Amino acid sequence: MPELPEVETLRTGLEKLVVDKKIKDVKVLSSKIAAPSAVFLEKTLKDKKFKKIERRGKLLIFYIKKNLYLLIHLKMTGQLIYVSKSESLLGGHSLVKKDEEINFSNSSGGELPNKYTRAIISFIDGSNLYFNDLRKFGYLKIVDENELNKLLLNNYGPEPDSNEFNYNYLKNNLSNKSVSIKAYLLNQKNIAGLGNIYVDEALHLSGIRPDRIASNLKDVEIEKLVKEIKKIIKKAIKYNGTTFSDFRDVKGKKGNFSKFLKVYGRGGKSCYFCSSEIKKIKLAGRGTHYCPSCQK
Ligand SMILES: [Zn+2]
Repeated sequence: MPELPEVETLRTGLEKLVVDKKIKDVKVLSSKIAAPSAVFLEKTLKDKKFKKIERRGKLLIFYIKKNLYLLIHLKMTGQLIYVSKSESLLGGHSLVKKDEEINFSNSSGGELPNKYTRAIISFIDGSNLYFNDLRKFGYLKIVDENELNKLLLNNYGPEPDSNEFNYNYLKNNLSNKSVSIKAYLLNQKNIAGLGNIYVDEALHLSGIRPDRIASNLKDVEIEKLVKEIKKIIKKAIKYNGTTFSDFRDVKGKKGNFSKFLKVYGRGGKSCYFCSSEIKKIKLAGRGTHYCPSCQK
C-alpha cells in the first residue's frame, strides 16, 4: 500500500497536471469503488475543475468548490495513472507482486484502460486520469464539508510532520494501548499516513522491537521514535517515496527511497549496523522486519 510519502509524491505530481483542467467526462466502470453512487459521481464531476489537491494521511482530497470534494483512497492495490500526449505519471500500487523485493520496474500495466481500470476521468484537453484497482478496496467518493470533517475527525490521527505529533501526544496516546507498537503505529487513528515500510524502518532506527507492547515504551524510546518517524517521512518525501514503481513525470523523476531501507524487504540479510541477521515475522497481520540485536 502506498504510504504518506508516496501519496504526497502523487499529490504534488497530480497537482501540476490536473488542477484547473476542465473535466469533460467521467466513466465509472465498477460501481463498487464509487460513492455515494457511480451515477452521482459521474454527474457531479462532469464540467467541473479541481481547484487544488490536498492530502490527509494516505487520503487524497480534490477540492472542487465550496462544500464539494472528491476523495480518492488507493488502499491496498489502487493506482492513479495520468496520461496525456506528452506526459504520464503513475502512483500507487505496483503490479509486481513480489512483496519482498524492491523491484518495481515495468509495472505501469501497459495499455490503458486495462481490466483493472475502475474509473476514468477525462479532461477537455484529451488527457485522462485512470483509477486502477485489482482488489477494489480503494474508492472515489464525493463528500460535502460536513462529511469530510467527520471522516477526518473519526479516522485520522495527527500527521507525522505536524507539531501536533510530538512527545507529549505519543506518550499520552500510547499509555492505554495494549497492542504491539507495530500495530499501534499502523492504526491511522493514532498517526495518519504510516504503513508497513516506514513503521518497520522507524522502529529499527529507534532501536525498538516491533512486538513490544505500546504502553510499555520508555520515555526515552518515545522521544527517539517521534524523532525518527519525523525524519524518515521527511526524507522519504524528499526522495519521492519507495513504492513508486514506475513513477515518472516529464523530467523522468523516479521514487528512489528504496536505497535507504535498512530492514524492510531484507529478511535473512545482514543488518547494516551490527551484521546480525534481519528477522522477518508476522505481526499485526503484516510481514514485519527487524534486527534482533539493534532492537530491544
Ligand atoms: Zn542490527
